[in-house]
Amino acid sequence: MKNEKAKKAAAAVCVLSAVFVVAFLVTADIFHKPLRETDKYSVAMGTVITQRLFSRSDASKECADIDEIINTLENKISWRKEGSPIYSLNKNNTAGCDEELSEIFSRSKAVYDASSGAFDITVGSLTTLWNIGEETARVPDENEIASALSFVDGSKINVSDGVVTSGKGQLVDLGAVGKGLACDKVREYLEETDINGAVISVGGSVLLYGENEETETWSVGVRDPRGESDEYMGVLSVSYCCVSTSGDYERVLRKDEKTYHHILDPKTGYPSDSSLISVTVVSSSGFMSDALSTACFVLGREKGERLLSMFDAEGVFIDSEKNVFVTPGLKASFTLTSDKYVLSGEAQ
Ligand code: ADP
Ligand code: MG
Repeated sequence: MKNEKAKKAAAAVCVLSAVFVVAFLVTADIFHKPLRETDKYSVAMGTVITQRLFSRSDASKECADIDEIINTLENKISWRKEGSPIYSLNKNNTAGCDEELSEIFSRSKAVYDASSGAFDITVGSLTTLWNIGEETARVPDENEIASALSFVDGSKINVSDGVVTSGKGQLVDLGAVGKGLACDKVREYLEETDINGAVISVGGSVLLYGENEETETWSVGVRDPRGESDEYMGVLSVSYCCVSTSGDYERVLRKDEKTYHHILDPKTGYPSDSSLISVTVVSSSGFMSDALSTACFVLGREKGERLLSMFDAEGVFIDSEKNVFVTPGLKASFTLTSDKYVLSGEAQ
């Protein structure tokens, strides 16, 4: 009897030890397995999406999911997509508004107020008049601009009881925040997965997710606004944030030796003329980095710097003389790599 018990106990110990050894080997294998990279390129939101995911196992499914998340967002917030709430709003001046849209409108209003209207999502009557970046782009005459300007007023957007309304004839254009918003949606998704790190760029907005296993921070190139599309003038070493750039090179119309870019000043109706040629904003929120980069581009450096401090964001400003201004919180993370630009010590 005693012998029987001893045998059972010994068997139990053996099984437990085996389970322990297997568990140890599996865990050790997971921890020692190097991170692998899965890349994907696609096109959405009128721009190129590049995904670089780092994980212990293949991340093709996650890459496909991310593409779908971005496409779904585009179908919801683009005024061009027939059937989207923004399409309906622009057609009828009223549309159903879920919690996500309601938050988009309230955050847009916060940046509209703080930037004294330099950032204004009701700029749609102007953007569709100029159509910069499209084949139908043209320089409108002064009367057309005055007429379009009369519809631009971000204070007229109202949200209540699940319904959004705009002023008569107003056109909402979320082009200045869509790509940053996409970064936020992708981050929310990644947090639910086993992905260890990721760099996702949606046009001029980049999500830096998790940590780079080797260097902790990620390196993001700041595009040379006067160079080719793959040329950088500096590098930011950052993590856990979004980086958005607005520049005068992104979409342009050339007419009679003049160049017109796609970021419009809601006060004048013309492409903004603040002497900045590029603004890069770093924020924990993709929406904010995108909205603020557009706002700062219109406001100019000094007002732009003040705006960034109100939203706990940092930035790199480049003016038309190729002077580079970096806000204090970002100085240690920015390296100038091009001798065509001069780093200024003036940014406060
Ligand atoms: P990109 O779209 O090239 O990343 P931005 O984020 O700066 O650049 O957004 C520019 C887009 O935002 C324009 O194409 C237009 O749709 C819209 N827009 C232009 N001017 C303004 C403005 N002053 N406020 C808000 N949105 C704007
Ligand atoms: Mg923007």
